[in-house]
Amino acid sequence: MKNIALLVLIFIASYSLKGQSFLSGKTYYSEKEYIEYFAGNMPLILTIPHGGLLVPSTIPNRNCAECVTVMDTNTQELGRLIADEVKKMTGGNCFPHLIINRLRRTKLDANRDLFEAALDNPDAVNAWYAFHKFIDSAKMMVANQFQRGLLIDLHGHGHAFQRLELGYLLSASNLRSGNNFLNGPAAIENSSIRHLALSNKKEYRHAELLNGQESLGGFFETERYTAVPGPADIAPRSGEDYFSGGYNTERHGSVDSGKIDAIQIECNFIGVRDSEISLQFFAEATANALVKFLKTHYFGKDGFSCPTSITSNKDKNTALSFSVFPNPACESVTLNLPSPGTLRMYNAMGQVLNEFSFLKQGEYTLPLAFNDKFVLLQFIGKDGSSGSMKLMRQCY
Ligand SMILES: [Zn+2]
Repeated sequence: MKNIALLVLIFIASYSLKGQSFLSGKTYYSEKEYIEYFAGNMPLILTIPHGGLLVPSTIPNRNCAECVTVMDTNTQELGRLIADEVKKMTGGNCFPHLIINRLRRTKLDANRDLFEAALDNPDAVNAWYAFHKFIDSAKMMVANQFQRGLLIDLHGHGHAFQRLELGYLLSASNLRSGNNFLNGPAAIENSSIRHLALSNKKEYRHAELLNGQESLGGFFETERYTAVPGPADIAPRSGEDYFSGGYNTERHGSVDSGKIDAIQIECNFIGVRDSEISLQFFAEATANALVKFLKTHYFGKDGFSCPTSITSNKDKNTALSFSVFPNPACESVTLNLPSPGTLRMYNAMGQVLNEFSFLKQGEYTLPLAFNDKFVLLQFIGKDGSSGSMKLMRQCY
């Protein structure tokens, strides 16, 4: 038994560590705190590239001929509110990943390629890399835990027509070309929800996902917000302003590869971003629409369950948090540990079933070699602080 445990441990230590790890429910910052990452525990990622307010004098204002420097007013606040609303509506269990560029767009445009974004300023360049590194980490976490997911790149537009503009990398004239075109290979290959179009729970075709009753635009309509494309407004008319998706939607969606789709949401100002009340109502509506969209098309009736993340212990000073996924679990479980330390599994009688030592913080997968329905996992960090949580074993 001891030999088996040792073998397992060596295997885990050498193969399961995946670089820097992020604990769900915690906030991380880049150097100088220009980029903020709140690590979530669900298959939804929100990125806010143009809502930053910081204007450090060490980064000169961007001044290239094509540079756009106008900020997307109140989108940072909106992103945070949407995350709060998702958490509320899932009973506190699920929270999206949230990545915010805190620099004003005059200093960094986090929705452009590196040169246009940062104009070679070292601090801006570092912030640009950090922004995408946090997004990549969030995407990896989502792909590992849920096999698929959705990224929303959140913006605000200044167009006269007060409606939401949903960007799937398809131009206004693409959207006007009709459902036959949208269901064809050319449109699907260029779509930021390419993966979803090829695999969704109701086997909807691409056009249905873009402008049907159960499209994201359709779900916004149910919440009384107008959106294009959507069932009531399937495409912008010729001459109307429309943003079809930018750098982040292309880079981080599924157009080229991968199982994380992306949609750019460009929010109008009036009734959406113009007051605290508007923001609050719209955040609630958006949380509803996004969770409905995920459940309907990505995971089906059963929905998805979010990994537990618990900070516990009697003594506040020694509380240590770690996360476990999935829970319930059958054959194995993945732990995200904040520091080196020891993990003990106890049965309901309080007997130690297994003990593992870890030399580094990070993500580890452990086999569940017992038949008990419930076990208690206790993690004791190197500094003596500890945390614990209940794990349920369930096999189908
Ligand atoms: Zn923007």
